[in-house]
Amino acid sequence: MGFSTDAIHAGQKPDLETGAVMTPIYMTSTYVQEEIGVHKGYEYGRTHNLTRAALEQNIAALEKGKYGIAFASGLAAIQALMNLVKAGDHVVVSNNVYGGTYRLMELIIKDYGIDFSWVDAMDLDNIKNAVKDNTKIVYIETPTNPMLNLTDINAVSSYCKEKGLISIVDNTFMSPYFQRPLELGADVVIHSSTKYLNGHSDVIGGMVVTSDDKIYERLKYIQNAAGAVPSPFDCWLTLRATKTLAVRMKQHNENAMEIAKYLESASFVEKVIYPGLENHPQHELAKTQMTGFGGMVSVDFGNEEKARNFAKRVKVFTLAESLGGVESLVCHPASMTHASVPKADREAMGLTDSLIRLSVGIEDIEDLIEDIKQAIS
Ligand SMILES: *Cc1c(COP(=O)(O)O)cnc(C)c1O
Repeated sequence: MGFSTDAIHAGQKPDLETGAVMTPIYMTSTYVQEEIGVHKGYEYGRTHNLTRAALEQNIAALEKGKYGIAFASGLAAIQALMNLVKAGDHVVVSNNVYGGTYRLMELIIKDYGIDFSWVDAMDLDNIKNAVKDNTKIVYIETPTNPMLNLTDINAVSSYCKEKGLISIVDNTFMSPYFQRPLELGADVVIHSSTKYLNGHSDVIGGMVVTSDDKIYERLKYIQNAAGAVPSPFDCWLTLRATKTLAVRMKQHNENAMEIAKYLESASFVEKVIYPGLENHPQHELAKTQMTGFGGMVSVDFGNEEKARNFAKRVKVFTLAESLGGVESLVCHPASMTHASVPKADREAMGLTDSLIRLSVGIEDIEDLIEDIKQAIS
């Protein structure tokens, strides 16, 4: 089936009892047992929930994977993935992942005796050089937040296969509409479904997709045993949202491209970063592993005051954390999303205090451009 057909139908069958076309929100923590040990296969809400199961099947279909496993947040999903390793193991991570991923790994999970190496994953050799005898996972995010650096998913996945390592890709920025890491050879895809998958800035959620039976069994066990499950209502909202993922992503992409081109032609900015621009250093790679360039644009104003003024003056864009919603947002990564990353590390990756990140929404492009114009005038 095509992407939109899957988005609208996968995982969703009319309700057996009533024929309701839309999957009901099963708000129940427990299920009746006719006699002790005799039931319909459902016992307890943490373990089984049909609204959640529908969402898991839906997103698995979109990522072209066998299994989806839903979590209460993107970080809960990453925490569960880190339970695939144990004390004494080593994980290689691309160095400018989402700030919260860095915080979780470096400031919490590290204390459990798991060792992390942070590498510039734009160059596969850096990953190869970091791999040790006890390495179990290579974790990448592409494009990265907010520098929009890319990693060659196919090259990393092939290397991991050869070495028997688990390759994990955070696909939050592209969504399966523009990039499908499993098709490029990755073992596991993780999403903050808070962002594009849900797309309406009203749910916090996470999703893992894999086609590997063993990894699935383990993660399903962890999902139930550790218990970071999303609410049935949140699952239902996300299921409602994925139906329009294709049309939303097309519009995000179109608007972001126009804004990136407009900013590039403007004299008041120092640098525009967007994988769809020909001057993006990895534009060619972008064209081979993505079918669009997404809705995220980063802009370096060259000086912090200019950046702060811009964030203060925009009216259609809203100053807020997060991304991927239908509404346009502006954020100052150095003081907001990446405040927990040490300043020296931030600057080393080009994440300066004058950098602004735009999450371009799907409003009318004329209004967005007008808003940018008035903010810099
Ligand atoms: C937001 C985000 C996360 C964390 O997800 P939450 O749903 O906020 O827990 C992980 N990775 C990326 C790329 C993100 O943007």
